[in-house]
Amino acid sequence: MVANIIDGKKISAEIKQSIAKKIEQRIKKGLKRPGLAVVLVGEDPASQIYVKNKRKGCEQTNIYSMAIDLPKDTTQEELLKTIEELNQNDDVHGILVQFPPPPHIDRQAVIEAISPLKDVDGFHPYNLGHLAQKVPLLRPCTPYGVMKMLKTTGVDLAGKDVTIVGASTVVGLPMALEMLLEHCTPTICHHSTKDLPAKVRQADIVVAAAGKPELVKGEWIKEGAIVIDVGINRLPDGKLVGDVAFEEAKKRASWITPVPGGVGPMTIAILLSNTLEAAELAD
Ligand code: NAD
Repeated sequence: MVANIIDGKKISAEIKQSIAKKIEQRIKKGLKRPGLAVVLVGEDPASQIYVKNKRKGCEQTNIYSMAIDLPKDTTQEELLKTIEELNQNDDVHGILVQFPPPPHIDRQAVIEAISPLKDVDGFHPYNLGHLAQKVPLLRPCTPYGVMKMLKTTGVDLAGKDVTIVGASTVVGLPMALEMLLEHCTPTICHHSTKDLPAKVRQADIVVAAAGKPELVKGEWIKEGAIVIDVGINRLPDGKLVGDVAFEEAKKRASWITPVPGGVGPMTIAILLSNTLEAAELAD
């Protein structure tokens, strides 16, 4: 068996086109152009690339992009004040603070300072709580992007055994909540999980989000399983790889996502879609 590729670039381009059309219609109706403020504290090179791609996504969809680049010694108080100003700004419908922030910044305080109605990352306890209660509002971008990718396979998700490798509040945990919404049976694995290969072997769908290069071996994949690789790892030679040994896994899976060109572009497309949704909530 050679797996079909789930092409995140293509799917995300379609989502962006649809967002651009909806924004054009909003503007014709005299409604506000959606606005996204992307806040970057410091000069972490990886964060700079992520922020650049998000701002580029705004340009592609005609979302108003407000760039706020703060020096790395910005205090917690200054950052929270900036967020409060953005909460009050009617031209800004979505607020994103690029993570990780410098170590002196309290991450949780930042998440909770953003108005839940402008929380386009979906990290605020209010939005995560809505997802847990199965009435999602603004949904964490990466897991929701994964669900959109799975839908394109046409496979009926109900009843599928899903193994998620990684339990972060950004990816693994909300991923499990999304899977429950589709009537799957998720298992969440983390650092202390016993016998990870056995957990992966039982899965109809594997989502790898551990941040460990090629942690999930091809031989662990059940014949015909769907494999979603969220991991983005840069090797010392500069090559980007995921959390799955792609070439081997491809021989056993029915569908698989590549890295790069898989989940990454979907995350940005959902961020833009959440910004449009936040603007609609504010109408
Ligand atoms: P994180 O470090 O916050 O969490 C990693 C999780 O994986 C933890 O729960 C940890 O216990 C678990 N884990 C680590 N090693 C493990 C092992 N050997 N066995 C079992 N579990 C293990 O990371 P995160 O923010 O959730 O991100 C995970 C990966 O996804 C990273 O590579 C990150 O770059 C990538 N990511 C990609 C996108 C995207 O858009 N494609 C978005 C977010 C994160």
